[in-house]
Amino acid sequence: MVLSYEELLARVAAPRGTGRPVREPATGDALAEAPEHGVDDLETAVRTARAAQPAWDALGHEGRIRVLNQVADHLQDNAEALAQLLAREQGKPLNGQGARFEVGGTIAWLRATAATPLEPEVVVEDESQRTELVYRPLGVVAAIGPWNWPLMIGMWQIAPSLRMGNAVVVKPSEYVPLSVLALVSLVNDVLPPDVLQAVAGGPDVGARLTAHPGIAKIMFTGSTATGRRIVESSAKNLARLTLELGGNDAGIVLPDAEPDGIVEGLFWGAFLNTGMTCAALKRLYVHESLYDRVVDGLAAYAEKVPMGRSLDEDSLLGPVQNRAQFEVVERLVEDAKARGARIVTGGRPATELGDLFYPITLVADIADGAALVDEEQFGPALPIIRYSDVEEAIASANRLDAGLGASVWTSDVAGARAVVDRLDAGTVWVNQHGMVHPFAPFGGVKASGYGLEFGVEGLKSVAAPKAITTPVG
Ligand code: NAD
Repeated sequence: MVLSYEELLARVAAPRGTGRPVREPATGDALAEAPEHGVDDLETAVRTARAAQPAWDALGHEGRIRVLNQVADHLQDNAEALAQLLAREQGKPLNGQGARFEVGGTIAWLRATAATPLEPEVVVEDESQRTELVYRPLGVVAAIGPWNWPLMIGMWQIAPSLRMGNAVVVKPSEYVPLSVLALVSLVNDVLPPDVLQAVAGGPDVGARLTAHPGIAKIMFTGSTATGRRIVESSAKNLARLTLELGGNDAGIVLPDAEPDGIVEGLFWGAFLNTGMTCAALKRLYVHESLYDRVVDGLAAYAEKVPMGRSLDEDSLLGPVQNRAQFEVVERLVEDAKARGARIVTGGRPATELGDLFYPITLVADIADGAALVDEEQFGPALPIIRYSDVEEAIASANRLDAGLGASVWTSDVAGARAVVDRLDAGTVWVNQHGMVHPFAPFGGVKASGYGLEFGVEGLKSVAAPKAITTPVG
């Protein structure tokens, strides 16, 4: 079954006058209304998910893998409609690393998660006993996501949970509910009834879901502030937590780097999804010997990358998704200007494109302590800080409470290892930034959260280990 964009939207939109109005960030046009689910809907979702979970578990790994691959085929058939909806609602362009890329990644992640092997582990085998560790489903997983990569991050939570035999209740971000509801609706064309549910609503619905006694595990991706609230509410149900929280990733350009060879990687490391990416490069430290060449190279590259409306096939960068985030970016850039930092490109709203467009803004001659360096901008503004001593750059990279990712840029990959080893982050990339892989565990340290997603570690994080000991001889 292949749905048009209009048919897909009609499935998930609330009747006119009954839901929350959703506007397209790129144009300000009304898109549709999103349903607002209440306490009763939440209770029903958790109860029916619990009831459906044992039969889903009973299918076993082979059975579930087969169903998940059928889901992936069905999503592939409907990829274009999903991408159209995502582009309109989230604001990201269709092309480049935009909506079509996100939908493709979502499907690829599902297939990779289905294919990830998780064998029982023999942990003791001696003359008296054999102990095997197996992984059992937890029950119902609550999946709460942000607005920047709603389908991809949604699938990062849903796919491993389902693969391990759990049921899932999804609470999409209130900024992008329709795209996530459409994803869930398509998945449910194939999945047995009630195994996957969605409740749309704001923080209040999220708070109730995370404290619900029927929830065994919370997969949360969002801000550090919300993560702290979820830790508190999980005291009530003792749900296990995976917290993927905010980042403020540093990149260090070492003196031996070749500027011309790294500019493109630096640019997309910082401005993937117009900077609204958790593990984007958010503070760039460049050795003084290369500083001007890197700044000029980034500025020249930025000029070539078109920003525009989501449905314009030429756009590679889009608007900031919502007004609140737009104001964060604007405030941080204005503060940098007031401190005397140099605006190399951008620096004021691109009102000619629309109300929520902010251009690529490179900010040079700025130092640690400026708000644009110390706070997560989550948008198209990058502070570029000059350093003279690598020790100083390492100390700067590690001085904040965030620790999601970091990167080192060099012509000597092996030699850079000494710097890589000293960076406090869940992932450190060399000569790239922000690339994730379905088999490479991903998670933060410090206030960027705890727990791992992806690969075997990701499957284990949505399961309960059970040690089975049998006598030998
Ligand atoms: P947010 O914390 O405002 O919202 C995330 C989700 O939490 C939304 O669905 C929201 O409705 C819900 N929520 C809000 N209050 C809640 C509560 N008390 N209990 C339960 N749920 C609640 O985050 P956001 O603004 O949507 O996303 C941006 C942030 O997410 C940035 O800081 C970014 O770095 C981070 N992020 C992290 C990752 C990662 O993998 N580490 C990925 C993407 C985004």
